[in-house]
This record gives sequence, C-alpha cells and structure tokens, in this order.
Amino acid sequence: MRNIAVILAGGIGSRVGGETPKQLLPLADGRSILEHSIDAFEASPSIDEIAVVMHPDHISSLQKLCRSNSWQKLTKIIPGGAERWESSYNAIKAYMTDKTANKEISLLLHDAARPFVSQRIIADVCQALETHEAVTVAVPVTDTLYRTEDNQVQEIPDRKAFMRAQTPQAFHLSTIAEAFRHLKNDDNRPSITDDIGIVHHYLPGTSVYIVPGEETNKKITYPEDIK
Ligand code: C5P
Repeated sequence: MRNIAVILAGGIGSRVGGETPKQLLPLADGRSILEHSIDAFEASPSIDEIAVVMHPDHISSLQKLCRSNSWQKLTKIIPGGAERWESSYNAIKAYMTDKTANKEISLLLHDAARPFVSQRIIADVCQALETHEAVTVAVPVTDTLYRTEDNQVQEIPDRKAFMRAQTPQAFHLSTIAEAFRHLKNDDNRPSITDDIGIVHHYLPGTSVYIVPGEETNKKITYPEDIK
C-alpha cells in the first residue's frame, strides 16, 4: 500500500481576510501555513508521496515555494475546484488516471489550513489504513452543545455522543473514488463539508475508523487563529 498525502490548498480563505489566501500567510517563524503542512507529511516515514491541490491563481506561488524548499516527496500540483469537494475530486481523478500510480494506494486528504498536524496522528492514520478502508481523526466535544432554531435553544444533546472532525481523512483509493462517482452523478447534492461526509452519505455501509486527534491540530479559519 502506498500512502499519498493530498494537501488541500485550493481555497482562498476569505474568512481570514486580505488578498493572500490563508494557506500562504506566515506563522510566527516566518514560514507559511502551507509550508508547515507540507513539512509534516514530508517528515513522516509513513508517507510515500505528496500532492498539493492549489487554487489555480496561486500555483506559481507554490512553484516558488518548491524551489526554495528541499521537499523530496512532492510530485504533483493539482488545480483546485470552486468548492472543497471539487478540489478533493480533482486529486482523486489525478490518481485514478495516473497510469504510473500503483492502484494499491491510499489517499490522506488533509486541510492545508491545519499546519500543526502531528507525526503521531499521521502514523496512526497510516497504520489504521492497513485494516480499514476509511479513517478519520476526531477530538471530543468539551463545550455544551445547543441545537438552535431562530436563535433559540431547542435542545441540549449529550455532548459525549459527539466528536469534532479533523484531518487527515484517509481512504483506500477505490473507496473514495466510488463515493465521488455517486456524488458527481447526483443532481441534488447535499451540502457536505468533508470527505468522510461524502463516503458516509454515498456508501453508508462503510465503517469509518477514528484516530484520536489533538486540540493543536486546529484549522486556521479566522485572523485571530494566527496571532
Ligand atoms: O474553507 P475551509 O477552511 O473549510 O477549507 C478547508 C481546506 O480546504 C483549506 O485548506 C482550503 O484551502 C481547502 N479548500 C480547497 N478547495 C476549495 C475550498 C477549500 O482545497 N475550493
């Protein structure tokens, strides 16, 4: 099994503000969010190859970063789509049609906006892929949850029954490709915010193994997240 990390950097990160997409903004050490995310998978002995899905307007910025870094595993730059699922789909297609790729591969789809993913999480996800076709990362919910309607509390569910999803979310290529084939043919696509959601919706019998996440593996979403 070859483990391929797909770093999803196809968004423009409008909630962080400014002209530069959030994944190209620097963290405290001066290196960008995207470089940190790539570094994490480059350093993992469990990862064989890395692909980055980049917004088409910013591919030249990524090529510049490739020249100034010594990444050995980054072999593909794939243009992103208008929505996150289209960015994932572009990567899945790239591997389905890659005649040189061994078909016994797994894809670890990771938000570029989670630069602090740990080596432990990556290793545990890759180990779980040896026995599971779909693997996610999640953390317990520590705040009380409200189900709301019209800004009124309707229900307070038991938070122990819920977890917050993180990435990487990983799949045997044949499983994720089949789920996306259904999604592409669906004229009434529901709004789904991650790749596990797509597999869960279109291949409901698939069991999804959960690797414990970490609070530090947070997604940078708002300007205050990088202060
Ligand atoms: O917008 P959100 O924060 O949920 O995005 C999560 C990740 O998905 C980000 O790393 C972003 O760059 C990526 N993304 C993408 N293509 C899109 C939208 C988001 O690759 N069209």
